[in-house]
Parts: sequence; structure tokens; C-alpha cells
Amino acid sequence: MSEQSSISTLAESWDVIVVGAGPAGSAAAYSCATRGLRVLLLEKALFPRFKVCGGCLSPGAMESLYRMNAMDRVLKHSIPLSSFRLSAGSCSASIPISGGFAIAREALDQELALHARASGATLAFGVSATLERSGSDGCLVRVSGEGRAATLRAGLAICADGLSGSFLPQEGWEPVVTRNSRFGVAARLPAASLNGAAPDNCISMHSGAGGYLGMVRLADGSIDAAAALDPAFTKQVGGPGGAVASLIPHLLPEERRVLETAAWRGTPKLTRIRRVEGPGVLVVGDAAAYVEPFTGEGMTWALRHGLRVGEFAARICEGGYQAGAWASEWKRAALPRRLACRTVSLGLRSPRAVRGAIALLRHFAGARAVARRLVGGPWAGSSRLGASAA
Ligand SMILES: Cc1cc2nc3c(=O)[nH]c(=O)nc-3n(C[C@H](O)[C@H](O)[C@H](O)COP(=O)(O)OP(=O)(O)OC[C@H]3O[C@@H](n4cnc5c(N)ncnc54)[C@H](O)[C@@H]3O)c2cc1C
Repeated sequence: MSEQSSISTLAESWDVIVVGAGPAGSAAAYSCATRGLRVLLLEKALFPRFKVCGGCLSPGAMESLYRMNAMDRVLKHSIPLSSFRLSAGSCSASIPISGGFAIAREALDQELALHARASGATLAFGVSATLERSGSDGCLVRVSGEGRAATLRAGLAICADGLSGSFLPQEGWEPVVTRNSRFGVAARLPAASLNGAAPDNCISMHSGAGGYLGMVRLADGSIDAAAALDPAFTKQVGGPGGAVASLIPHLLPEERRVLETAAWRGTPKLTRIRRVEGPGVLVVGDAAAYVEPFTGEGMTWALRHGLRVGEFAARICEGGYQAGAWASEWKRAALPRRLACRTVSLGLRSPRAVRGAIALLRHFAGARAVARRLVGGPWAGSSRLGASAA
């Protein structure tokens, strides 16, 4: 990405330093900058970069992008999604959906970071940040990259460094990771590799004993394949390629080879939660909590909380903040949905329950309406979007 700031040119003092330029960090930087705060957005990777993700933007995520005035930037890289197909072995059911889009994370994250910069934030890529000290009077952030290092000062740090982030110290901030959690993997597959298994404009989900795999076709025709896998099962079958291939029945030998040899990249264990606030620090996005990707709403929450946190950042910078306000807001918004995602993810561990759900989807309109809400989030109004089995 051109015109990015480097450590040597960064000012020493900021109102807010946002760490991580995923959807949560860019939305937070946008939200702070448009409130007139002096914001620095730090990202350790050089963009564009691959990110383990299914690349599906829900209607709720689109609503946040609309509120950020970022629709045009995103839509030019996206393709609309018109159906969701759930398969387990050779049983399957489809429901029509609308309002969601598929996009490569390389394009989405780069556009959102550029949007934050266009809105007034300063961007620095290839810069890793760690929290050196924080208190009610602000924080010190150690930054390093390009062989240089410096300590910057800010009234507030917003931690948006995702599942694998390294910004916060372990002490006092260690996440609680659920013992039986799955981990995530993703790879980009060539356009012509799995035609029947990844139709156009469709979220194609394959569930099995060892996890589930979601596939969507991206704007360039390639396939974004992303899965949540059971660690023991994955080890037993020799790695993520074998585990993913086991989820799709009737693969041709060359299709199996594509999956087994794809460049799968992984995440740490997914289901986790941690403290979302401390003196001088607020946490957003996956850095705060994550369950599993089946309901396709990680980016929705990252964007929503990123946009919302700006108001709390402004209060902190103006001296009118009551400690604990962000944590209360986060709990109110996120915990009920977290419970719903957890229930779905536990249900998916039983192949019999998944086959039962597929039968319900094929035969009952009520089940399809419930599925639409689980897949599309509470924002996917079922009455507006009729559903029928295929
Ligand atoms: C298998 C899988 C499939 C998924 N599919 C979907 C889907 O289809 N739809 C959906 O909405 N969500 C999906 N998700 C979830 C989604 O990817 C995340 O919820 C979303 O990326 C969270 O955004 P974020 O901004 O919080 O974190 P991230 O996108 O992870 O961004 C964090 C950023 O912080 C940077 N960073 C980390 N540490 C530092 C540091 N110390 N200094 C500076 N920068 C740092 C990282 O480089 C990264 O760019 C999926 C997740 C998985 C695992």
C-alpha cells in the first residue's frame, strides 16, 4: 500500500492509538477520526495480506459499511450471495438469502484501512505494537518495524489485534479459551477446481464429524475455502487438507488432491473471551471474544463494535468517561449473540443433529426462517426474505 507512514515520521503523542487494521480496527479508527480525535492506526502486516476467513459479509456488516460511507469501496470487490446450502454427507438443503456479499479479505481490509486514512486517521503498516504501560492517565505503546523502534504516548489504546494478537501483555489480559474449541483454517482454491461443490453466489457449507467447511466464490472466480476443525480429528487424518476433504462426499481424485495440497493457513483455538476494558485500554473485535465462524458474523461484530467504540474513546479523551461503561455496552450487545453462536456450534458437533436439521430445512418453512436468522444474524429479517427448500 503506498503513502503509508513509517515509524520515523510518526508523532510521539496521540489521542488514540488503534492496534490492528482488520475490520474492527479500521472501523474504530474511522469512528474516532470522524469525531475529531487524533488517531494512529497501527498494523503489523504489510497490506494486502491473506486472512483466515470465509469472506462473507452479512447484511448487518453491510449496514455498518453503509454507516461508514464505505459501501462503494467494498462493493466493487464483492459479489452478492443469493443462497446458503448446508450439506452433511449426501443430504443437503438450500435456503435463499439476500443482502450479503462475498469478498476477499485482502481487498476488504485494504479498502477499509484506506477509508480510515481518508477519514483522517494516520496509518502505519509493517509496525508491530505492544502495550508498555497503561493507566487512567493514558498509555505508552512500544512500536517496532523496519529495524526501528519507538515509544508513543496516547490518551487511549484500542486493541483490535484479532485472535493471534500480541499487543496486550498476558498478565491481566489472558483470554479464557474453551477446552473443546475448534481451530480455523482457510485457503484460496483455483477457479476451476471444485465446480459442483462451490456454486456461484452461494455459501456452500459442508458439515461432518471433524468440523465444517464453508466455500464461496470470489469476484475473480477463485474459491475462498474456510473451515473450523476439531484438532484431534485433524491430527488423526494427517492435517487440514485431509480433514477438509473428508467433509465433501464423492470428490474426484483431482479435487481431493487440490484440497490436500492447498496452502492451508490456521488460527489458534477459536472459542475464547477476555476482559474488554482496563484503564487506558478498550478491546474490540476478535481480540475481545470469538466463538466459531458457522454463523458468519465475526466481521459484523468487529465492524459494529469498532464503530461504537469511537463514542467511548471520545468520552475518555474529553474526561467524561465512567470506568466500566464500554464493558457494560459490550456485554449487552455481544453476550446474547455469543450464546446463540455457541449453541449452533455445539449442535454442529452431532452429525445426526445436522442431518435432522437438514430434513427440517427441506420440509418446514418455520425451520428455514430460523436458519436464516442463525446464518444471517438477527438483522436478517425472515419475513422480508422468503425461503424455500431446494
Ligand atoms: C475459518 C474462519 C472463517 C470465517 N468466516 C467468516 C465469514 O465468512 N464472515 C465473517 O463475518 N467472519 C468470518 N470469520 C471471522 C472473521 O474473520 C473475524 O471475526 C474478523 O476478521 C475479526 O476482525 P478483527 O478486526 O477483530 O481482527 P482481524 O481481522 O484478525 O485483524 C487483526 C489485525 O491486527 C493485526 N495485529 C495483530 N497483532 C498486532 C500487533 N501487535 N501490532 C499491530 N498489528 C497487529 C493483524 O495483523 C491483523 O491484521 C471467520 C473466521 C474464521 C477463523
